[in-house]
Amino acid sequence: MLAWLLSLELFSVSIFFFLLNLAILGGALFVGRLIDRLYRRTRQVVSAAEWLLALSTVTVNAAISVAGWALWKSHLLQLNLDAGILIIVRDTLILLVAMDFALYVLHRLAHVRLFYGIAHFKHHEYRDVRTLTLFVMHPFEAAGFGVLWVTTLVIYPFAVEAVVMFLQLNLYFGVTAHCGFPLYSQAVSRLVTRSGLTDPDFHLRHHRDEACNLGFYTTIWDRLFATYQPRR
Ligand SMILES: [Zn+2]
Ligand SMILES: [Zn+2]
Repeated sequence: MLAWLLSLELFSVSIFFFLLNLAILGGALFVGRLIDRLYRRTRQVVSAAEWLLALSTVTVNAAISVAGWALWKSHLLQLNLDAGILIIVRDTLILLVAMDFALYVLHRLAHVRLFYGIAHFKHHEYRDVRTLTLFVMHPFEAAGFGVLWVTTLVIYPFAVEAVVMFLQLNLYFGVTAHCGFPLYSQAVSRLVTRSGLTDPDFHLRHHRDEACNLGFYTTIWDRLFATYQPRR
């Protein structure tokens, strides 16, 4: 697969990454629809503006993927292709905690009045989130996330399996955080948050009170910087 990606031309790889990101959007919406059915939520009307913003996020994510591919092809971004299981687990944990910290900082900056007015307000127009809201953001914000991600990969040659694992986890956290339901029971939620990870209700509370819960995967930075609001 990696060798095949390397053999592609810029045009073909752009089409590939656009279709891949479109499939990710489709998959996320499908899972969101299943969750809606589980909770008997009726189908909600999606405005043309929401679809447009979601498609622009898909396009920005595809462009960031192509930029990552170009950096990898020119050896500026390196991946560890021969990692053992311990290195894969270690790299996945490093990516999870490091990206969480970087995203926490970026998210706090996004809530500074100036940046909020330029970009982040778009994502917060939706107080009652649904899965599509994960992709509904200003293109500047999608680009900010993407640049942060590619920069992280340039800094250190992570195991390729850890990169794939992190992307899967990122999607899991994103979809469950924006499905609109707490998903976990109080007991499971308590267990998860005590372990330092966020539960699906964590980001839902951020959409209701924007001053709290700015992390994405862990509660570490919110606890450390006193922005943590537990589930009631
Ligand atoms: Zn959100
Ligand atoms: Zn926010």
